[in-house]
Amino acid sequence: MPAVQPLESPTDPKDVLRHVFGYDSFRGRQAEIVDHVVSGGDALVLMPTGGGKSLCYQVPSLVRAGTGIIVSPLIALMHDQVQALRQLGVKAAALNSALGPGEARQVERAFAMGELDLLYVAPERLLTDSFLTLMQGARIALFAIDEAHCVSQWGHDFRPEYRQLTLLHERFPSVPRIALTATADGPTRREIVERLGLENGRVFLSSFDRPNIRYRIAPKANPKAQLRAFLEEHEDEAGIIYCMSRAKVEQTAQALVDEGRLALPYHAGLDAETRARHQDRFLKEEGVVMVATIAFGMGIDKPDVRFVVHLDLPKSIEAYYQETGRAGRDGLPSEAMLLYGVEDVAKLIQFVEASDAPDARKRVERQKLDALLGLCETASCRRQVLLSYFEETLPEPCGNCDTCLEPVKTFDGTQVVQKLLSCVYRTEQRFGAGHVIDVLLGVSTERVSKLSHDQLSTFGIGTDLSRDEWRAVVRQVVALGLLKVDVEGHGGLSLSDECRPVLRGERAVQLKVEKRVRPARASGGARSAKPVLGSPDDEQLYQKLRALRLELARAQSVPPYVIFHDATLMEIVRVRPRSLAALGDVSGVGEAKLERYGPVFLEAVRAG
Ligand code: ADP
Ligand code: ZN
Repeated sequence: MPAVQPLESPTDPKDVLRHVFGYDSFRGRQAEIVDHVVSGGDALVLMPTGGGKSLCYQVPSLVRAGTGIIVSPLIALMHDQVQALRQLGVKAAALNSALGPGEARQVERAFAMGELDLLYVAPERLLTDSFLTLMQGARIALFAIDEAHCVSQWGHDFRPEYRQLTLLHERFPSVPRIALTATADGPTRREIVERLGLENGRVFLSSFDRPNIRYRIAPKANPKAQLRAFLEEHEDEAGIIYCMSRAKVEQTAQALVDEGRLALPYHAGLDAETRARHQDRFLKEEGVVMVATIAFGMGIDKPDVRFVVHLDLPKSIEAYYQETGRAGRDGLPSEAMLLYGVEDVAKLIQFVEASDAPDARKRVERQKLDALLGLCETASCRRQVLLSYFEETLPEPCGNCDTCLEPVKTFDGTQVVQKLLSCVYRTEQRFGAGHVIDVLLGVSTERVSKLSHDQLSTFGIGTDLSRDEWRAVVRQVVALGLLKVDVEGHGGLSLSDECRPVLRGERAVQLKVEKRVRPARASGGARSAKPVLGSPDDEQLYQKLRALRLELARAQSVPPYVIFHDATLMEIVRVRPRSLAALGDVSGVGEAKLERYGPVFLEAVRAG
């Protein structure tokens, strides 16, 4: 008889949630999803990052007999989740290329013997004949297909192996399948259903709102000063700063180090060993700032990333949302700041046009850029614009974004825009913002003289605005679609058809009054986006508990957050439990952790 252990654990999902995970209640649609999968149904789960997707398959895997098989394309994520589950006393393992053949055999054996609650598998491994045979002889609780948007050819994470996952349904028709993704747009959603054969499953669509993230979008004026002011508000906190180029990543990281911050660079030009080391430090140490290209972030589920900064425009709203979504998975207040300039837009347009993608694809990419620019230039609530992009309506302005906190004033900019448009026209629609603004301001640069642009009727007609103000006008006019940023050239501006009614005076244009760039801190008494504790005493105890956590984490070489989340430590500070039982009631303290860490944390609370 193989040593198949009878399930000792309770089989009610709520009990599993409480005893194993230490949480009081399911969030959002988790309970519905868990019930559906526990009773054998297929599901497609669409939830934003940090929404709590993992529990949707982890709990059913524990409740149903057999092993939950989790298909995940990201080795780093598998590793993290397995570590976190083991801390909870769950029997979890991963099979992927990072394992030596001996280790892999051990995992396979444990699986065959029914000793695992959850097994994370890379898709290419799952699809091998030998693994399929192995599964045929095992008891499987469910298949979870994480990052399910990888089936989509249009998506940025396309994985051909994902296409073959329909095979699971054919070979194991009675095993429920749950596909999960944080990529929400309609076409991707439909493609997942079709490709993974989920037509008979239920779709669980959650709100994509991330209310704890404060959005802040500002034109680049003095990016270094803007970044410094922002970081002053985030001392000792972990965060990610995205830059478009490797060179800028290196420069920015160095500048931060020079200012005394713990900052590390990460980009595809660094060797694999350095990248792995930096990533590891980001996860395992506290308060590390990762300065990175978009090569960083996929599969990082560190819950206490307190901020995400974009020093350059991301590629699309989806990319922006995914990248900013890495902040605040633990639900505590977090901040996302984006700085952008019209040059960024020109650069991105050139990327799109220079690629050898088919025209239809390029058109889609251009539309995505336009939408992004619309978000940057909007005078209304950022969150409303973001969510409407994902076909979701937020009825009221959010109160937690820059435009809500510091409402934007607008003015009738029709004349200003007319001046700009005619200047672009007179200079023959070939020049970028810099030169056009020179002409408007009446600056006789060498180029202006050489081209005799000082002879034009529009030379010097714009001296009532400053250069920065003109830049703001150009950005807004581009965002409104009145000016196009030219393609082959170097950001040359040209008129679009839509500008005719404006030139003829038939259409008025409202422009935003540019906010003067100032440190985020001075933002009119808006409450800080930082998580808060009550008193200095509380703060002291909190720091003490963090130090204890870090020590325990170091000893096991795991990230501190797999021991307890910040939110859990904060609650311990608030409650100041006097007994193990009281500590066990704190959200995030399950039975295994109570047993392992309860006594030392109680002692720390007692002492002080
Ligand atoms: P996703 O995979 O959707 O990005 P996760 O599964 O990593 O999100 O969950 C995000 C965070 O929220 C995790 O740290 C998790 O422990 C926590 N969490 C999820 N569900 C609950 C719940 N019901 N109660 C308390 N915390 C939860
Ligand atoms: Zn808002």
